[in-house]
This record gives sequence, C-alpha cells and structure tokens, in this order.
Amino acid sequence: MLGGVVDETGKILRSHRRDTPPEGGAALNQIIADVISELLTTHDAESIGISAAGLVSSDRETMLGAPNIKDWDGVNIAKSIFDICGARAIVENDANSAAWAERVYGVGKGAENLIMITVGTGVGGAAIVDGNLLRGANGTGAEFGHMKVVPGGELCGCGIRGCFEKYSSGSALMRHAREAINKDPTSANGLLARGNGTVEGLLGAHITQAACEGDQIAINALATTGDWLGAGIATLAMLFDPAIVVIGGGVVDAGELLFEPARKAMMREMPFAGKHPVPKLVAAELGNSAGLVGAADLARN
Ligand SMILES: [Zn+2]
Repeated sequence: MLGGVVDETGKILRSHRRDTPPEGGAALNQIIADVISELLTTHDAESIGISAAGLVSSDRETMLGAPNIKDWDGVNIAKSIFDICGARAIVENDANSAAWAERVYGVGKGAENLIMITVGTGVGGAAIVDGNLLRGANGTGAEFGHMKVVPGGELCGCGIRGCFEKYSSGSALMRHAREAINKDPTSANGLLARGNGTVEGLLGAHITQAACEGDQIAINALATTGDWLGAGIATLAMLFDPAIVVIGGGVVDAGELLFEPARKAMMREMPFAGKHPVPKLVAAELGNSAGLVGAADLARN
C-alpha cells in the first residue's frame, strides 16, 4: 500500500509504503487512515484520493467488489476512513487512476481519447472518452479484462469463462510459459534455473528477463500474450476509437518483444482494415506511481 503527497504538477513530494494486511477489510482501512494521518502531519492536503483494485461504485466511496482483497466487498471505504481519522477521501478504481495520470502527466498527455490496459495478475481497463474518464452508470465501466474473447474458455475469477484477462494478463503469460515448458522440459532448463529449477518458482519478471536475453520459450510466451492483447485491442479500438492505447504493468519492460506481436495482431484482427486510422500502442510512463498520482489528481476535480 503506497500513500503520498502529490502536488499540482504531478510530483510526489513525500511517500509512505506499508504492507497490505492479509486480513484486508477493517485492518486495511485502519492502515490507509494511519498513512493519511501521517502524511497530513507535514502537508496540508486540499483533497484526498484513494486508488483501489476492484469495482468502485459511482458514489466514489464504496467498493462493490474486490477480488484480490479480503472483506472489502460492499465496504464504504470513504466512510470508514472518515470515522477513523476525520479525513474526507474519494475512491477511484486503480486502472482509472493510472489512465488519468498517464493522460494528465504521462505518455498520453493531452489525449482526448485514450484507453489504458494494465497487465498484471489480471487485466485492468480504463477509457478516457472526449476528455472525460468513462465511469458508466454504476462506476464499473471499461472493465476490459472481463470482455469475453473465447466462448467456453478458461474460467475467470469473475465467474465467467473466456475473459480477456485469462489470455493476456501476467498470470496468462505464466500459463503460456508453463504450457511450453511441459511440452518440452529439456529445452526449458535455462528458463527454469531462474526460478530455482521449478515451474512454481518462476515469476513474470524471470520470463521478461529471459526473453530479453534471447530465451525462445520466454520470447514465445510473450508473443502469445502480445497476440491476445493486440487482438483484444482491435475490438476495443472499434468501440472507443482512441488515439492511443497505453499498456501498463511490469510486462511492458519486455518492450518490442510484447509490442511487436501486439501491433501485428491488432492489424490482423482490425475490422475495416485500411479504411480508418489505427491507434498508437505505447508503454505507460509513470510505472507504479501512476495510481497514486492519478487518484490525487482525480480527487482535485
Ligand atoms: Zn472475468
């Protein structure tokens, strides 16, 4: 959990990191409130924004569903924090916060139409449409990760089969790599050595690093992930007509090993190919601080 003081230029003046408690819920709200109180001892904040992973209600206070955090479903986070420390905060979805930061301060500076895809454990999505962040009627708009791309496909944590994130997330990258390793274990020795010799020990960062050093299994796993990403982006490009598509998450460290297959798949799957301009695919610039900076800026508005 990262907290910080952010000025009007997007600069982080002070930051404070704490572990997310595994018990989630009230314990997590307590830690957020503690960090806010601590930051307020040195800086006067005009507004407070919280970037949170999950479905955030359009009231900008309540977590409708948080698949990766325990006991946060249905919790009014803003009220809970106000009750603990007296500070008023608004809550935004983490992908929305990151996209907003990239649009105001990062690689999408000034873009009126932009979509962002955050590749992590799952796939986060956000859309800025004609200059405004798309929230939808209930706050749950632009959840691209749960767009169905394979009818009857892999079962997703959301309860539905064949979601985009089951094929194009960091977890999917690991699955693509594992499948290749199981098919041909002997040629995977070099890759496996990076994760203590076992498939279970391998991390996404190992795959990216191995690919950058020429490991063919890792390169193929990234290409498969990039292919799924690009194919999904072709559909999203028809829906949102963005000028740029920002891709975030640790996987962008792989650079062209991910972007080239993604661009190729986007062009291959693009409806009405050649008849309309296509979006630029670019890597996010602000990294792990994007959510922090974006939530702070959204709280100002
Ligand atoms: Zn899903």
